Amino acid sequence: MPSGWREVTARQPWRISAKLLIISSVVTVIGFSAICVNVMLDMRRGEEALASQTLENLATSIEADISRNIEIYDLSLKAVASNMLVPELVTVSKPVRQLILFDHATTARHFGAIQVYDADGGLSIDASTLDPVPENRSDEDYFKIHRDNPDAGLFISRPMLFRGAYSIVLSRRISDTDGGFMGVVAGSIRFSYFHELFERLNLDPDDTITVLRRDRTIMMRRPFDLDIIGRNLNDRQSWKADNLQVGTAYSGQGPIDPTARLYVRSGDAGPLFVVAGKPLAAVFALWQKEALRIGAVVLALVVFVLASTLVLAREIGRRAAAERKLEEMATTDALTGLKNRRKFDAVIDVEWRRAMRQRTPIALLMIDADHFKAYNDTFGHQAGDQVLVGIAICISDSVSRAGDCAARYGGEEFAVLLPNTSATDAFKVAETIRAKVQGWSDDQATSTVSCGIASLVPTSGMEWSILVAAADKALYAAKANGRNQSVVASLPALSLAA
Ligand code: GH3
Ligand code: MG
Ligand code: MG
Repeated sequence: MPSGWREVTARQPWRISAKLLIISSVVTVIGFSAICVNVMLDMRRGEEALASQTLENLATSIEADISRNIEIYDLSLKAVASNMLVPELVTVSKPVRQLILFDHATTARHFGAIQVYDADGGLSIDASTLDPVPENRSDEDYFKIHRDNPDAGLFISRPMLFRGAYSIVLSRRISDTDGGFMGVVAGSIRFSYFHELFERLNLDPDDTITVLRRDRTIMMRRPFDLDIIGRNLNDRQSWKADNLQVGTAYSGQGPIDPTARLYVRSGDAGPLFVVAGKPLAAVFALWQKEALRIGAVVLALVVFVLASTLVLAREIGRRAAAERKLEEMATTDALTGLKNRRKFDAVIDVEWRRAMRQRTPIALLMIDADHFKAYNDTFGHQAGDQVLVGIAICISDSVSRAGDCAARYGGEEFAVLLPNTSATDAFKVAETIRAKVQGWSDDQATSTVSCGIASLVPTSGMEWSILVAAADKALYAAKANGRNQSVVASLPALSLAA
């Protein structure tokens, strides 16, 4: 292929379209996926909000039940504490005293009998018996707190073994009219109360209910574990006060087992508060199933869209290549590889109008092989073809500017269009081509060409056939002058370009 051969730089609308198709597909897929992810995250947040609301309702209703029972029991303790001040109490018989003190006292399955301890911690009166077995509770927290602090009010003890059953002890101070310490009245709520309360609820095995004192001592927990009861959570990172705020949910590990749960606590109203927890796996089980299903469908769609896009893009690319090839074939001369006559006519039409607009000269070389009929007759048609190819190579090698167009005009005749070129410069190109052809052909069968040159600045109303006719005429003159030479056409002074 001649070194001056220029690649066909045709527009490539198809290739751009393939790229656009891929880009728009990818953008669509990303956008669609983003919307899907967003919707799924919204669904997840919805599930979490619903679960935390359910847990909050649960915690609040449990807390309300506990508070109500404590309050009822506390009323009895208060009644005993004030009745202890009745002066006649020391004079009446034991049964009457029991009546005065405990007549209105609440008795329920889970409430222990109320007991009165004197100022030294000795058991003085017991609601369950007229003759209690002597015992001393001066070492217990609930005794010391009331002894040392007149304003302790209702004190709720840590869970403990009290009279043979795990219970929490509720106690109040008995003060005389001057505020002096007279002893303590105490009663208990057995764990059975909590067990029964929790059993009434419809809970999953991994759901947790934790009842805590204000100082965050665990009073009770479901699932039940004696080791945990009575522990204080103040040193636990996982249930810091920050994590367990009223009205907010905390998801993560709890203080007791490693299962991650959603935890919500009840309000601040009562002496105890309740934390309800549900495993995150259970909270999001439905959502996870749904997300997996939607995710799989979206993934399949994405793969399908991307695969189809790639197949389409490849097909578009193939067609574009075939089209370029076809276009190239339709505009190229098969023997010499130069542009064909059809292409030349199209190019000269465009360049002519451009030169007219820009008022620049446009030059045309008409090149014809000398005595070619004789060459054919002597060396055969195939050898003649080779000479034509050689001449084409010489022409291509001499013409290198973008916009220049070398074509096979017909038979053994070539045309070279040189936009924005004066007659002088065109003459130089013609001479280069002529010398190259002469230098290239072998000695025994010298091939030469004659060249007609025309250059002019087209003005409105002029047709490009004027330029062709002028170059043709100059070629005729070169032939007539003896061939193997270049002749510049003489044109009317107006249109001549220097
Ligand atoms: P002149 O110097 O006056 O141009 O003489 P010429 O013989 O070249 O001119 P003429 O027009 O008489 O002959 C042109 C010849 O070119 C006729 C034909 O055999 C030959 N020719 C035309 N096209 C081809 C071609 O494609 N291949 C070959 N080998 N020869 C061709
Ligand atoms: Mg000819
Ligand atoms: Mg000829």
